[in-house]
Amino acid sequence: MKDVEAGILEVDAMQVILRAFVWDFAPEKMSSTFHRLRNEWGLDGISFVISNPSRLLLLPNAEHGRFRYTDEGAVCFQPERSWYADLPIMPVASELCGRRNPLKEATEKARETGLKVSAVMTCCYNPLLGRKHPELTVQNALGDRILHLLCPANPVVREFLVRMAGDLVTNYPLDAIELEDLGYLTLTRSRDLLTDLIIPPAADHLLSRCFCEHCRHTAEGLNIEIERVRFFLQTELEQFFISPTELSQSPLEWDVWERLVEGEARKVLHMRMDIVSSLLARLVEEIAHKHDKKVHIEGRLLPASLWQIGIDRYKLRELAHAVEVDAKDVAPDRLPPCLFLNRQVFGNRTELWVRLHPSERFVPNRQAFLAQVRACKEQKVDGVVIVGYGSLRRQNWDWVKEAVSLLKS
Ligand SMILES: [Zn+2]
Repeated sequence: MKDVEAGILEVDAMQVILRAFVWDFAPEKMSSTFHRLRNEWGLDGISFVISNPSRLLLLPNAEHGRFRYTDEGAVCFQPERSWYADLPIMPVASELCGRRNPLKEATEKARETGLKVSAVMTCCYNPLLGRKHPELTVQNALGDRILHLLCPANPVVREFLVRMAGDLVTNYPLDAIELEDLGYLTLTRSRDLLTDLIIPPAADHLLSRCFCEHCRHTAEGLNIEIERVRFFLQTELEQFFISPTELSQSPLEWDVWERLVEGEARKVLHMRMDIVSSLLARLVEEIAHKHDKKVHIEGRLLPASLWQIGIDRYKLRELAHAVEVDAKDVAPDRLPPCLFLNRQVFGNRTELWVRLHPSERFVPNRQAFLAQVRACKEQKVDGVVIVGYGSLRRQNWDWVKEAVSLLKS
Protein backbone atom coordinates (compact mmCIF):
# COMPACT_ATOMS: atom_id res chain seq x y z
CA MET A 1 0.00 0.00 0.00
CA LYS A 2 1.26 3.44 -0.85
CA ASP A 3 0.34 6.41 1.23
CA VAL A 4 0.77 10.11 0.69
CA GLU A 5 1.46 11.78 4.00
CA ALA A 6 2.32 15.46 4.41
CA GLY A 7 3.28 15.62 0.79
CA ILE A 8 5.90 12.92 1.13
CA LEU A 9 5.40 9.74 -0.81
CA GLU A 10 5.82 6.93 1.65
CA VAL A 11 6.10 3.32 0.64
CA ASP A 12 5.38 0.81 3.36
CA ALA A 13 8.29 -1.49 4.00
CA MET A 14 8.00 -5.10 3.11
CA GLN A 15 6.34 -7.18 5.80
CA VAL A 16 8.07 -10.33 7.01
CA ILE A 17 6.18 -12.75 9.20
CA LEU A 18 6.99 -16.15 10.63
CA ARG A 19 4.60 -19.08 10.41
CA ALA A 20 4.67 -21.41 13.38
CA PHE A 21 2.64 -23.85 15.45
CA VAL A 22 1.46 -22.80 18.89
CA TRP A 23 3.06 -26.12 19.93
CA ASP A 24 6.46 -24.58 19.17
CA PHE A 25 6.21 -22.36 22.24
CA ALA A 26 6.09 -23.04 25.97
CA PRO A 27 3.55 -20.77 27.72
CA GLU A 28 6.07 -19.50 30.27
CA LYS A 29 8.65 -18.66 27.59
CA MET A 30 6.34 -17.13 24.97
CA SER A 31 6.84 -13.50 25.94
CA SER A 32 10.61 -13.65 25.85
CA THR A 33 10.62 -15.69 22.63
CA PHE A 34 8.28 -13.28 20.88
CA HIS A 35 10.42 -10.36 22.06
CA ARG A 36 13.44 -12.03 20.54
CA LEU A 37 11.63 -12.71 17.25
CA ARG A 38 10.65 -9.07 17.03
CA ASN A 39 13.75 -7.32 18.35
CA GLU A 40 16.61 -9.65 17.43
CA TRP A 41 15.27 -11.39 14.34
CA GLY A 42 13.49 -8.26 13.07
CA LEU A 43 10.19 -9.94 12.24
CA ASP A 44 7.00 -7.90 11.81
CA GLY A 45 4.57 -10.58 12.75
CA ILE A 46 3.72 -14.16 13.49
CA SER A 47 1.16 -16.41 11.92
CA PHE A 48 -0.23 -19.40 13.80
CA VAL A 49 -1.35 -22.56 12.07
CA ILE A 50 -4.64 -23.37 13.77
CA SER A 51 -5.31 -26.94 12.68
CA ASN A 52 -2.97 -29.88 13.04
CA PRO A 53 -1.75 -30.74 9.53
CA SER A 54 -0.74 -34.34 10.24
CA ARG A 55 -0.79 -37.01 12.90
CA LEU A 56 2.78 -36.64 14.01
CA LEU A 57 4.89 -33.50 14.20
CA LEU A 58 8.63 -33.60 14.78
CA LEU A 59 9.57 -30.25 16.28
CA PRO A 60 13.27 -30.54 17.17
CA ASN A 61 13.50 -26.95 18.41
CA ALA A 62 10.15 -26.52 20.07
CA GLU A 63 10.34 -25.20 23.62
CA HIS A 64 8.74 -28.34 25.00
CA GLY A 65 7.78 -31.64 23.40
CA ARG A 66 9.70 -32.66 20.30
CA PHE A 67 7.34 -35.41 19.15
CA ARG A 68 3.73 -34.33 19.00
CA TYR A 69 1.17 -37.02 18.28
CA THR A 70 -1.82 -35.03 17.19
CA ASP A 71 -5.32 -35.44 15.89
CA GLU A 72 -5.12 -34.31 12.26
CA GLY A 73 -7.68 -31.59 11.54
CA ALA A 74 -8.19 -30.72 15.23
CA VAL A 75 -7.57 -27.10 16.22
CA CYS A 76 -5.35 -25.35 18.76
CA PHE A 77 -8.16 -23.24 20.21
CA GLN A 78 -11.29 -23.75 22.28
CA PRO A 79 -14.19 -22.91 19.96
CA GLU A 80 -16.87 -20.68 21.45
CA ARG A 81 -19.95 -22.90 21.33
CA SER A 82 -22.49 -20.15 20.69
CA TRP A 83 -20.98 -19.51 17.25
CA TYR A 84 -21.96 -23.02 16.16
CA ALA A 85 -25.19 -23.33 18.17
CA ASP A 86 -27.52 -24.53 15.41
CA LEU A 87 -24.93 -26.42 13.33
CA PRO A 88 -24.25 -30.19 13.37
CA ILE A 89 -20.49 -29.55 13.50
CA MET A 90 -17.99 -27.34 15.26
CA PRO A 91 -14.19 -27.27 15.32
CA VAL A 92 -12.68 -30.02 17.46
CA ALA A 93 -10.13 -28.79 19.99
CA SER A 94 -6.93 -30.81 19.84
CA GLU A 95 -6.17 -33.17 22.72
CA LEU A 96 -2.93 -31.22 23.03
CA CYS A 97 -4.90 -28.20 24.28
CA GLY A 98 -5.96 -29.92 27.48
CA ARG A 99 -7.97 -27.32 29.36
CA ARG A 100 -5.98 -24.45 27.97
CA ASN A 101 -6.61 -22.28 24.97
CA PRO A 102 -3.12 -22.17 23.40
CA LEU A 103 -4.16 -19.89 20.55
CA LYS A 104 -5.50 -17.34 23.04
CA GLU A 105 -2.29 -17.34 25.06
CA ALA A 106 -0.06 -17.18 21.99
CA THR A 107 -1.96 -14.47 20.11
CA GLU A 108 -2.28 -12.24 23.19
CA LYS A 109 1.38 -12.56 24.11
CA ALA A 110 2.47 -11.95 20.52
CA ARG A 111 0.27 -8.87 20.34
CA GLU A 112 1.66 -7.53 23.65
CA THR A 113 5.12 -7.78 22.12
CA GLY A 114 4.06 -5.60 19.21
CA LEU A 115 4.03 -8.35 16.61
CA LYS A 116 1.26 -8.46 14.03
CA VAL A 117 -0.76 -11.63 14.42
CA SER A 118 -2.56 -13.79 11.93
CA ALA A 119 -4.18 -17.21 11.91
CA VAL A 120 -3.99 -19.80 9.17
CA MET A 121 -7.47 -21.23 8.66
CA THR A 122 -7.71 -24.45 6.69
CA CYS A 123 -11.03 -24.53 4.85
CA CYS A 124 -11.96 -27.60 2.79
CA TYR A 125 -9.40 -30.11 4.03
CA ASN A 126 -10.58 -31.77 7.22
CA PRO A 127 -10.21 -35.55 7.68
CA LEU A 128 -11.51 -35.32 11.25
CA LEU A 129 -14.87 -33.72 10.44
CA GLY A 130 -15.16 -35.59 7.15
CA ARG A 131 -14.94 -38.98 8.83
CA LYS A 132 -17.52 -38.01 11.41
CA HIS A 133 -19.81 -36.47 8.79
CA PRO A 134 -19.37 -38.16 5.38
CA GLU A 135 -22.43 -36.28 4.11
CA LEU A 136 -20.32 -33.09 4.12
CA THR A 137 -17.57 -34.50 1.93
CA VAL A 138 -16.80 -34.67 -1.76
CA GLN A 139 -18.52 -37.53 -3.60
CA ASN A 140 -16.80 -38.38 -6.86
CA ALA A 141 -18.14 -39.59 -10.19
CA LEU A 142 -17.94 -43.22 -8.99
CA GLY A 143 -20.00 -42.41 -5.91
CA ASP A 144 -17.02 -42.73 -3.52
CA ARG A 145 -16.82 -40.28 -0.67
CA ILE A 146 -13.45 -38.57 -0.28
CA LEU A 147 -13.56 -38.22 3.46
CA HIS A 148 -10.68 -35.79 3.86
CA LEU A 149 -12.24 -33.20 1.55
CA LEU A 150 -15.23 -31.06 2.51
CA CYS A 151 -17.43 -29.92 -0.39
CA PRO A 152 -17.57 -26.12 -0.71
CA ALA A 153 -21.10 -26.34 -2.14
CA ASN A 154 -22.46 -27.99 1.01
CA PRO A 155 -24.49 -25.38 2.95
CA VAL A 156 -23.36 -26.78 6.33
CA VAL A 157 -19.70 -26.59 5.31
CA ARG A 158 -20.16 -23.02 4.09
CA GLU A 159 -21.91 -21.91 7.26
CA PHE A 160 -19.35 -23.71 9.42
CA LEU A 161 -16.42 -21.92 7.76
CA VAL A 162 -18.04 -18.50 8.08
CA ARG A 163 -18.81 -19.13 11.77
CA MET A 164 -15.28 -20.36 12.47
CA ALA A 165 -13.89 -17.20 10.86
CA GLY A 166 -16.26 -15.17 13.08
CA ASP A 167 -15.18 -17.08 16.19
CA LEU A 168 -11.52 -16.39 15.35
CA VAL A 169 -11.77 -12.71 14.51
CA THR A 170 -13.93 -11.85 17.52
CA ASN A 171 -12.14 -13.88 20.20
CA TYR A 172 -8.47 -13.44 19.27
CA PRO A 173 -6.39 -10.29 18.66
CA LEU A 174 -5.79 -10.98 14.97
CA ASP A 175 -4.81 -8.63 12.17
CA ALA A 176 -5.49 -11.11 9.40
CA ILE A 177 -6.80 -14.54 8.51
CA GLU A 178 -4.90 -16.59 5.96
CA LEU A 179 -7.35 -18.86 4.16
CA GLU A 180 -5.91 -22.12 2.92
CA ASP A 181 -7.33 -25.05 1.02
CA LEU A 182 -10.34 -23.10 -0.09
CA GLY A 183 -12.17 -24.70 -3.01
CA TYR A 184 -12.49 -28.09 -4.67
CA LEU A 185 -9.36 -29.90 -3.56
CA THR A 186 -8.10 -33.22 -4.87
CA LEU A 187 -7.49 -36.70 -3.55
CA THR A 188 -3.71 -36.32 -3.40
CA ARG A 189 -4.06 -33.50 -0.86
CA SER A 190 -3.89 -36.30 1.72
CA ARG A 191 -0.39 -37.07 2.94
CA ASP A 192 -1.44 -40.60 3.84
CA LEU A 193 -2.39 -41.83 0.36
CA LEU A 194 -0.85 -45.20 -0.48
CA THR A 195 -1.34 -46.71 -3.91
CA ASP A 196 0.46 -48.51 -6.72
CA LEU A 197 -1.00 -46.08 -9.24
CA ILE A 198 0.85 -43.12 -10.63
CA ILE A 199 -1.71 -40.33 -10.38
CA PRO A 200 -0.90 -37.48 -12.77
CA PRO A 201 -2.66 -34.14 -12.14
CA ALA A 202 -5.39 -34.86 -14.70
CA ALA A 203 -6.18 -38.23 -13.11
CA ASP A 204 -6.22 -36.59 -9.68
CA HIS A 205 -8.68 -34.06 -11.06
CA LEU A 206 -10.89 -36.79 -12.55
CA LEU A 207 -10.87 -38.78 -9.33
CA SER A 208 -11.87 -35.83 -7.17
CA ARG A 209 -14.66 -34.02 -9.03
CA CYS A 210 -17.68 -33.65 -6.77
CA PHE A 211 -21.16 -34.87 -7.66
CA CYS A 212 -22.66 -34.71 -4.17
CA GLU A 213 -26.33 -33.85 -3.90
CA HIS A 214 -25.56 -30.15 -3.44
CA CYS A 215 -23.30 -29.92 -6.48
CA ARG A 216 -25.86 -31.84 -8.54
CA HIS A 217 -28.72 -29.72 -7.26
CA THR A 218 -26.91 -26.48 -8.17
CA ALA A 219 -26.10 -27.84 -11.63
CA GLU A 220 -29.69 -28.90 -12.26
CA GLY A 221 -30.84 -25.41 -11.32
CA LEU A 222 -28.56 -24.08 -14.07
CA ASN A 223 -29.84 -26.61 -16.63
CA ILE A 224 -26.45 -28.33 -16.83
CA GLU A 225 -26.54 -31.95 -17.98
CA ILE A 226 -24.69 -33.01 -14.87
CA GLU A 227 -25.48 -36.71 -15.16
CA ARG A 228 -23.89 -36.74 -18.63
CA VAL A 229 -20.74 -35.14 -17.22
CA ARG A 230 -20.67 -37.59 -14.31
CA PHE A 231 -21.12 -40.58 -16.61
CA PHE A 232 -18.28 -39.35 -18.84
CA LEU A 233 -15.98 -39.13 -15.81
CA GLN A 234 -17.10 -42.52 -14.52
CA THR A 235 -16.24 -44.13 -17.85
CA GLU A 236 -12.85 -42.38 -17.92
CA LEU A 237 -12.07 -43.53 -14.39
CA GLU A 238 -13.10 -47.12 -15.08
CA GLN A 239 -10.70 -47.06 -18.05
CA PHE A 240 -7.97 -45.43 -15.96
CA PHE A 241 -8.18 -48.27 -13.44
CA ILE A 242 -7.43 -50.70 -16.29
CA SER A 243 -4.70 -48.72 -18.06
CA PRO A 244 -3.64 -45.07 -18.34
CA THR A 245 -5.99 -43.12 -20.66
CA GLU A 246 -5.11 -40.25 -22.95
CA LEU A 247 -7.13 -37.77 -20.91
CA SER A 248 -5.67 -38.90 -17.58
CA GLN A 249 -2.17 -38.26 -18.97
CA SER A 250 -2.99 -34.94 -20.68
CA PRO A 251 -2.00 -31.58 -19.18
CA LEU A 252 -4.55 -30.10 -16.83
CA GLU A 253 -5.28 -27.09 -19.00
CA TRP A 254 -8.48 -25.10 -19.26
CA ASP A 255 -8.60 -25.36 -23.06
CA VAL A 256 -8.63 -29.16 -22.95
CA TRP A 257 -11.08 -29.55 -20.10
CA GLU A 258 -13.69 -26.97 -21.00
CA ARG A 259 -14.38 -28.70 -24.32
CA LEU A 260 -15.29 -32.07 -22.85
CA VAL A 261 -18.85 -33.45 -23.07
CA GLU A 262 -19.74 -30.96 -25.83
CA GLY A 263 -19.12 -27.93 -23.64
CA GLU A 264 -21.15 -29.18 -20.66
CA ALA A 265 -17.85 -29.47 -18.77
CA ARG A 266 -17.27 -25.74 -19.25
CA LYS A 267 -20.60 -24.99 -17.57
CA VAL A 268 -19.60 -27.18 -14.63
CA LEU A 269 -16.24 -25.43 -14.32
CA HIS A 270 -17.96 -22.04 -14.23
CA MET A 271 -20.51 -23.30 -11.73
CA ARG A 272 -17.75 -24.52 -9.42
CA MET A 273 -15.97 -21.17 -9.64
CA ASP A 274 -19.22 -19.38 -8.76
CA ILE A 275 -19.73 -21.68 -5.76
CA VAL A 276 -16.24 -21.02 -4.43
CA SER A 277 -16.41 -17.27 -5.20
CA SER A 278 -19.66 -16.86 -3.30
CA LEU A 279 -18.18 -18.74 -0.33
CA LEU A 280 -15.13 -16.50 -0.45
CA ALA A 281 -17.39 -13.44 -0.57
CA ARG A 282 -19.16 -14.63 2.60
CA LEU A 283 -15.84 -15.17 4.37
CA VAL A 284 -14.64 -11.71 3.34
CA GLU A 285 -17.93 -10.24 4.58
CA GLU A 286 -17.40 -11.83 8.00
CA ILE A 287 -13.66 -11.19 8.36
CA ALA A 288 -13.15 -7.87 6.59
CA HIS A 289 -16.45 -6.04 6.34
CA LYS A 290 -17.87 -6.94 9.75
CA HIS A 291 -14.65 -7.14 11.73
CA ASP A 292 -12.15 -5.09 9.77
CA LYS A 293 -9.41 -7.75 9.51
CA LYS A 294 -7.42 -8.61 6.43
CA VAL A 295 -8.01 -11.67 4.28
CA HIS A 296 -5.09 -13.49 2.70
CA ILE A 297 -5.84 -16.25 0.24
CA GLU A 298 -3.60 -19.04 -0.88
CA GLY A 299 -2.82 -18.53 -4.56
CA ARG A 300 -0.73 -20.41 -7.09
CA LEU A 301 2.63 -19.68 -8.65
CA LEU A 302 0.81 -20.02 -11.97
CA PRO A 303 -2.40 -18.04 -11.49
CA ALA A 304 -3.86 -19.53 -14.68
CA SER A 305 -4.15 -22.85 -12.81
CA LEU A 306 -6.45 -21.52 -10.08
CA TRP A 307 -9.56 -22.77 -11.93
CA GLN A 308 -8.44 -26.31 -11.10
CA ILE A 309 -9.55 -25.86 -7.49
CA GLY A 310 -12.52 -23.71 -8.48
CA ILE A 311 -11.00 -20.30 -7.80
CA ASP A 312 -11.85 -17.46 -10.17
CA ARG A 313 -8.71 -15.32 -10.23
CA TYR A 314 -10.61 -12.15 -11.08
CA LYS A 315 -12.96 -12.64 -8.12
CA LEU A 316 -9.98 -13.32 -5.95
CA ARG A 317 -8.45 -10.02 -7.07
CA GLU A 318 -11.70 -8.26 -6.24
CA LEU A 319 -12.16 -9.84 -2.81
CA ALA A 320 -8.80 -10.58 -1.17
CA HIS A 321 -6.41 -8.15 0.49
CA ALA A 322 -3.50 -10.41 -0.34
CA VAL A 323 -2.64 -13.47 -2.38
CA GLU A 324 -0.02 -15.80 -0.93
CA VAL A 325 1.95 -17.98 -3.30
CA ASP A 326 4.14 -20.82 -2.15
CA ALA A 327 7.75 -21.08 -3.31
CA LYS A 328 8.14 -24.65 -2.05
CA ASP A 329 10.32 -26.69 -4.44
CA VAL A 330 10.73 -23.80 -6.89
CA ALA A 331 14.11 -23.17 -8.47
CA PRO A 332 15.26 -19.60 -7.70
CA ASP A 333 15.37 -18.66 -11.40
CA ARG A 334 11.77 -19.78 -11.92
CA LEU A 335 10.49 -17.62 -9.08
CA PRO A 336 10.81 -14.11 -10.66
CA PRO A 337 8.71 -14.90 -13.78
CA CYS A 338 6.03 -16.51 -11.58
CA LEU A 339 5.91 -13.46 -9.32
CA PHE A 340 5.73 -11.22 -12.37
CA LEU A 341 2.77 -13.23 -13.70
CA ASN A 342 0.98 -12.92 -10.37
CA ARG A 343 1.51 -9.14 -10.38
CA GLN A 344 0.07 -8.97 -13.87
CA VAL A 345 -3.06 -10.83 -12.83
CA PHE A 346 -3.57 -9.29 -9.40
CA GLY A 347 -2.23 -5.78 -10.03
CA ASN A 348 -1.18 -3.53 -7.19
CA ARG A 349 -4.55 -3.49 -5.48
CA THR A 350 -4.14 -6.98 -4.10
CA GLU A 351 -0.94 -7.48 -2.13
CA LEU A 352 1.38 -10.22 -3.28
CA TRP A 353 2.95 -12.38 -0.57
CA VAL A 354 5.36 -15.27 -0.92
CA ARG A 355 5.81 -18.23 1.39
CA LEU A 356 9.42 -19.33 1.74
CA HIS A 357 10.65 -22.53 3.34
CA PRO A 358 14.11 -22.19 4.93
CA SER A 359 14.82 -25.89 4.93
CA GLU A 360 16.92 -28.33 2.89
CA ARG A 361 13.75 -30.30 2.33
CA PHE A 362 12.50 -27.68 -0.11
CA VAL A 363 15.59 -25.78 -1.31
CA PRO A 364 18.98 -27.37 -2.00
CA ASN A 365 20.99 -25.08 0.27
CA ARG A 366 21.34 -21.70 1.94
CA GLN A 367 22.47 -19.97 -1.29
CA ALA A 368 19.40 -21.19 -3.18
CA PHE A 369 17.18 -20.04 -0.32
CA LEU A 370 18.77 -16.60 -0.28
CA ALA A 371 18.37 -16.41 -4.07
CA GLN A 372 14.63 -16.90 -3.54
CA VAL A 373 14.71 -14.18 -0.90
CA ARG A 374 16.45 -11.81 -3.31
CA ALA A 375 13.90 -12.61 -6.02
CA CYS A 376 11.14 -11.54 -3.61
CA LYS A 377 12.95 -8.29 -2.90
CA GLU A 378 13.65 -7.54 -6.55
CA GLN A 379 10.08 -8.26 -7.56
CA LYS A 380 8.97 -5.92 -4.74
CA VAL A 381 6.49 -8.32 -3.20
CA ASP A 382 4.44 -6.84 -0.36
CA GLY A 383 5.20 -9.51 2.17
CA VAL A 384 7.01 -12.72 2.90
CA VAL A 385 5.88 -15.56 5.13
CA ILE A 386 8.76 -17.63 6.43
CA VAL A 387 7.47 -21.07 7.26
CA GLY A 388 8.78 -22.94 10.27
CA TYR A 389 10.24 -22.32 13.70
CA GLY A 390 10.30 -25.29 16.08
CA SER A 391 10.19 -27.65 13.11
CA LEU A 392 13.47 -26.23 11.72
CA ARG A 393 17.07 -27.04 12.53
CA ARG A 394 18.81 -24.40 14.62
CA GLN A 395 21.21 -23.69 11.78
CA ASN A 396 18.25 -22.79 9.58
CA TRP A 397 17.23 -20.12 12.07
CA ASP A 398 20.30 -18.26 10.77
CA TRP A 399 18.85 -18.47 7.26
CA VAL A 400 15.69 -16.83 8.60
CA LYS A 401 17.59 -14.01 10.28
CA GLU A 402 19.63 -13.44 7.14
CA ALA A 403 16.48 -13.38 5.02
CA VAL A 404 14.88 -10.79 7.30
CA SER A 405 17.90 -8.52 7.20
CA LEU A 406 18.11 -8.86 3.40
CA LEU A 407 14.42 -8.07 2.94
CA LYS A 408 14.53 -5.14 5.34
CA SER A 409 17.72 -3.57 3.97
ZN1 LIG B 1 -20.25 -31.35 -3.84
